[in-house]
Amino acid sequence: MECRAGCGACCIAPSITSPLPGMPQGKPAGVPCAQLLPDMRCAVFGRPERPSFCGSLRPAADMCGDSREQAIFWLSRLEEETCPGAPTARMISGKAGLAGVCESAADAHVLP
Ligand code: SF4
Repeated sequence: MECRAGCGACCIAPSITSPLPGMPQGKPAGVPCAQLLPDMRCAVFGRPERPSFCGSLRPAADMCGDSREQAIFWLSRLEEETCPGAPTARMISGKAGLAGVCESAADAHVLP
């Protein structure tokens, strides 16, 4: 499966806990990444400063859905459900490989 052109959902909805260029404290959930270009491509793709988290996210039918909005919704829900203390965190994070990511997802539905 290929990434949807112009999507960028996985560079907006999830939090990233490791530092990245322009975001030394990591990226909060629901905030567009500082490295996300206007055409929704990654400015540091293929470079060592790109967080390993980003490379671990692969396009998949359940995550990406049929639209960017569906992908934002799915990833935002996953973010909420993988917060420490969420009862379903282990099951869901194991499915999607997003263990350990969590920030406030209150603004996660904001699109740039
Ligand atoms: S570093 Fe690149 S791939 Fe990772 S969230 Fe930012 S724009 Fe997306």
